[in-house]
Amino acid sequence: MKVCKFGGTSMATAASITNIKNIIHSDPERKYIVVSAPGKRFSGDTKVTDLLYAAYAEQQKTGSAEAVLSEIKARFERLSEELHVHIDWDAEFEAIADGIARSSTDDFAASRGEYLSAVLISKVLDFDFVDAQELVKFRKDSSFDAMLTNDLVEKRLAHSERGVVIPGFYGRLPDRTIKTFSRGGSDFTGAIIARGVSASVYENWTDVDGFMVTDPRIVPEPRLIEVLSYEELRELSYMGASVLHPDSVFPVQAKGIPINIRNTFAPDKPGTLILKDVSGYSRPLVTGIAGRKGNTNITISKAMMNDEVGFCRKVLSVIERYGLSVEHVPTGIDTMSIVISDMRAKHVDGEKLLNDIRGMVNPDSIEVSESMSLIAVVGHGMANTPGTAAKIFTALWKAGVNIRLIDQGSSELNIIIGVEDDDYNAAIAAIYGAFFAA
Ligand code: ADP
Ligand code: ASP
Ligand code: MG
Repeated sequence: MKVCKFGGTSMATAASITNIKNIIHSDPERKYIVVSAPGKRFSGDTKVTDLLYAAYAEQQKTGSAEAVLSEIKARFERLSEELHVHIDWDAEFEAIADGIARSSTDDFAASRGEYLSAVLISKVLDFDFVDAQELVKFRKDSSFDAMLTNDLVEKRLAHSERGVVIPGFYGRLPDRTIKTFSRGGSDFTGAIIARGVSASVYENWTDVDGFMVTDPRIVPEPRLIEVLSYEELRELSYMGASVLHPDSVFPVQAKGIPINIRNTFAPDKPGTLILKDVSGYSRPLVTGIAGRKGNTNITISKAMMNDEVGFCRKVLSVIERYGLSVEHVPTGIDTMSIVISDMRAKHVDGEKLLNDIRGMVNPDSIEVSESMSLIAVVGHGMANTPGTAAKIFTALWKAGVNIRLIDQGSSELNIIIGVEDDDYNAAIAAIYGAFFAA
């Protein structure tokens, strides 16, 4: 049996939902369906999930989420009308307004897009609806409980006679409140269901033909990756290739279930296959290039730093106190850099952090830059091929891009390069050109 996850664009219009219907009906093995909330219908449109976050904010500010909720309701009413199914939206939205008014976080509000999508699709397909909160469980400390969830999915779904629709993105805490995964988390729900029912394949249906070598918003029409390993997928998605949530690989990896990225709008194309073992395939040297902007780079200099026992530990203990994750720590004899990805997102006071480091290790100088991009060049083939790094650096030099950081992962699966945010697009294009120019 196959698990099929449909993303936001696939859920956005009656026409795209009709594509979903045809895809499901064309293969009786497509029995378990996971859906996202409706995404953008056109450029400039707002995703339903973003509207729901806005509804919660509105509730906090004014005591009512009515204005935003009625906009979302109109979208679902239109979809059900065009798809000729009847759903009591008045009752659904009354319950949502009530739930939002009683929530102390925005998770319940945000989860309702997936919930409503699943209610709609189960009607359209005449499949059973199973609420994710009955299956996907979090512990008291908010961590995801993979074992319990897997047991519940197996018990509840693995022997189902009928097709089943499950909302993505959320589950439930022991106190019965709703909790969501991070953004894009419906991909993770799909992988959880695939593991629990021991699917033959996890089909992830989206709005592109598959995983491209790099972001199609930076390089027009990049080559499609035909086959990718789990490790390559993890590196590329963690480093910023937003096509799949970076955690999606873990549940399927446990059972060696292949992931197949497919296009809802071109269902005859084979898409990208993600496998445990790619050794039988002939593949290019570099599999993919991904990256993300806006990292923070703190550079600390102090003469004789290398002789000072515990220097790195002291600096890192300050970073830890602020709850920040360290991505890289390149060190020289008298200098140390720390690259942090989530300093902006966590709204950390940079000046205060630097003062704390000053107090701890008394450096000669300390500098911070908040505009570093990290780019990962990923591929199993790079490990045994001399000259790969030279090719990357030559391409960047020719494009006039200044390299701020170089790091080769210990697995030799990737080379990470740090550049200024302003050089990010040029750097990606230059590396792509070096390995994939026609
Ligand atoms: P969904 O709503 O189906 O989950 P997403 O928007 O999360 O879809 O992911 C698909 C999008 O990811 C594509 O439309 C594309 O713009 C973007 N993307 C970024 N990097 C890549 C890549 N390397 N290959 C394909 N798509 C990519
Ligand atoms: N709807 C959620 C989001 O926009 C989850 C998802 O689409 O995967 O992030
Ligand atoms: Mg997505």
